[in-house]
Amino acid sequence: MSSLSSTSNILSVALDVPLDRMFDYVNHNVQVQIGQRVVVPFAGRQLVGIVMAINQHSEVPLEKLKTVIHVFDDIALDMQIFPLLQFCADYYHYPLGQLLISTLPLRLRQIKPAVSLKSYIYRVEHALPPEHVQKRQLVLQRIMDAFSHQTHLSEYALSAISTSWRKWLHPLVSEGYVVAEEVIAVKPSVPASHAVPVLNAEQQSAIDAILETPHAFKPWLLYGVTGSGKTEVYIQLLANILSEPLAQVLVLVPEINLTPQLEARFRTRLSQYPLVTLHSNLSESERLQNWLAAKSGTAKIVIGTRLSVFTPMPHLKMMVLDEEHDGSYKQQDGMRYHARDVAMVRAKQLNIPIVLGSATPSLETWYNATASQHKKQSYGLLTLTERAVTDAQLPKIMCIDIAKSPVENGLSPLLIQAIRERLARREQSLLFINRRGYAPVLHCSACQWHSSCARCSAKLVVHLSQRRLKCHHCGHEQKIPLQCPSCGNTDLKPVGQATQRLSQTLTHLFPNARIARVDRDSMRNKDALTDMLNQVYAGEVDILVGTQMLAKGHDFPNLTLVGVIDTDTALYSPDFRASERLFSQLMQVSGRAGRGSVGGEVLIQTSFPDHDLFHALRAQDYASYANALLQERIAMQFPPSRFFVLLKAEATDFQQVQHFLNFAAEKARQISNQVLIYDPVRPQMERLKGLERAHVLLQAEKRQNLQKVMASWVPALRAHKLSSKIRWALDIDPLEF
Ligand code: ADP
Ligand code: ZN
Ligand code: ZN
Repeated sequence: MSSLSSTSNILSVALDVPLDRMFDYVNHNVQVQIGQRVVVPFAGRQLVGIVMAINQHSEVPLEKLKTVIHVFDDIALDMQIFPLLQFCADYYHYPLGQLLISTLPLRLRQIKPAVSLKSYIYRVEHALPPEHVQKRQLVLQRIMDAFSHQTHLSEYALSAISTSWRKWLHPLVSEGYVVAEEVIAVKPSVPASHAVPVLNAEQQSAIDAILETPHAFKPWLLYGVTGSGKTEVYIQLLANILSEPLAQVLVLVPEINLTPQLEARFRTRLSQYPLVTLHSNLSESERLQNWLAAKSGTAKIVIGTRLSVFTPMPHLKMMVLDEEHDGSYKQQDGMRYHARDVAMVRAKQLNIPIVLGSATPSLETWYNATASQHKKQSYGLLTLTERAVTDAQLPKIMCIDIAKSPVENGLSPLLIQAIRERLARREQSLLFINRRGYAPVLHCSACQWHSSCARCSAKLVVHLSQRRLKCHHCGHEQKIPLQCPSCGNTDLKPVGQATQRLSQTLTHLFPNARIARVDRDSMRNKDALTDMLNQVYAGEVDILVGTQMLAKGHDFPNLTLVGVIDTDTALYSPDFRASERLFSQLMQVSGRAGRGSVGGEVLIQTSFPDHDLFHALRAQDYASYANALLQERIAMQFPPSRFFVLLKAEATDFQQVQHFLNFAAEKARQISNQVLIYDPVRPQMERLKGLERAHVLLQAEKRQNLQKVMASWVPALRAHKLSSKIRWALDIDPLEF
């Protein structure tokens, strides 16, 4: 048997392959450290991997081991993030290697060296003898003055002092008084001169409470209506945390491209701290650059979406999750993690505070923040009850009973009248309808045929301007048929309302109004939404028609009316989270009205004005509605009072799905009686993209019980003969089932 030479070692490498293990490779003669990127051969291909361990031995016989092809010396992942990744791999039953690689920027997953832009920061190493700075050397004086306030000065900060800073600073560097350190370049933030608001009492006590224990794990819920000044609390809180040398903070947001204002606010208010964003709208080189800036500690503030919860940050001191109830924190494929849960684990591992903010907290968080008697580790609850700007009031929310004021083309006379009044007063209106396209379905009145997708259990949506029918689930599209495919009738009618149709109706009703539509179809272009928002601010739009893209975070001072077109389907949806979601959506969209000094009005068209949800919404009382929902959930043994694991399976052949899931349910029952195992059932969307679907649900009082079952259940599923023939996935803590 051959043995390892003295200069060689064996690297245990993480790879992006769906196998739950590391892979050993021989490494000759190259210095290598844990966390470094390597290129290795795997199944006839070359893959990028991450070195997880360096050993002298392998369980695999030496002659069978392949050799490392290349070692990149560009980056090394630091160990700090490994425990988080390990936790997720275990908890979500997802291969560690696959997870680890998927959290890296794409550029680091490619077989080529990663290049990043560098810049310098300067710090004083030895105090300058006074005679070095003479009276006439104004620039030098100002530079030294800046050094007396800040330990490090960036090239950007120096440029702000004088364009000739180099001429003065470089001699000091050569003489050894000042040291230049290479860092990853970060786009500088520019300060703005608006005054810092004086916090109101509630805001101040929120910050005081959090800062009482700034160096310990503690989750906080900042519960405050829209416009109550949560963002202001984050900013002043983080300013405090960042004043500690080296400190970094992570701000998670649902969808940053929907809220360009947020980044701008952090940049102008915390301009002295290098800030980077991480989200899918960045180019791959920007993403790499920003990620490296976070990892190197240069970036002090990271604002990012879901995935950025995994960003390595060596000096992370606090996390903020804005709009913590938002469903986009949940990853719906690959590793189905919830960024809120992962952030919580990370905060605990690092022993730092974490702040969750929302006007309509998820029931999970509400439970943790209010049901303290049941919980060992409960969340601190901080409440902001009023709008922060003194003359801004909460909008008045009312229902329009469409039994009494019937809709025509989606609009009731009362709503039309309200829009007309706004137009006369040169105020803006927003009409919210959460469906894009022209109409949800095409219908034949002769034979009741309707347009449905052949590959999904879903209707084909009418997109009239393109004369096409589209499936919003699988992307299938076809021409609008000239006659009914079933009976030949040529009189086919679009049925129901969607954004395009509503815009058209409004154009007929108000030919002189400037009407803009905001949905995923009209906002395909990366900058389209920002441009549109700017038009709204500039007063160039009278009526906005849009989906939930418009609901989030925008601040339109001249918008005084929000009309909600159709929510009744969501009111009686079989999805157990539907009410919670609808309430928060309506609350958010209502929050767009009356941000300025003119009071806002929200009109909701519904057939059920007496529904509990509307009572609570009109009273703007989420707390009591949340408490009622929570009681219901507890009674029905739904989350958050119980924990769930969903095993989803799909295949073209439904029999295979059934076979696999029957086995899975049977197996789980054999393993444990601590867990309730439901029989396989079909989801509401039975067929998707041509695949027949079903699932098995596991329920338990404690997460540990589920984890115990899965420890032997998951390997049994992987070993099943159908495992590689059908598609299946585990969803731990699923949002819906
Ligand atoms: P939220 O994040 O809860 O929606 P914001 O922090 O965006 O609320 O605050 C809403 C508006 O009120 C913003 O224009 C903000 O500048 C302003 N604001 C926040 N706090 C104060 C305060 N203490 N005094 C005056 N204005 C404030
Ligand atoms: Zn027909
Ligand atoms: Zn489809």
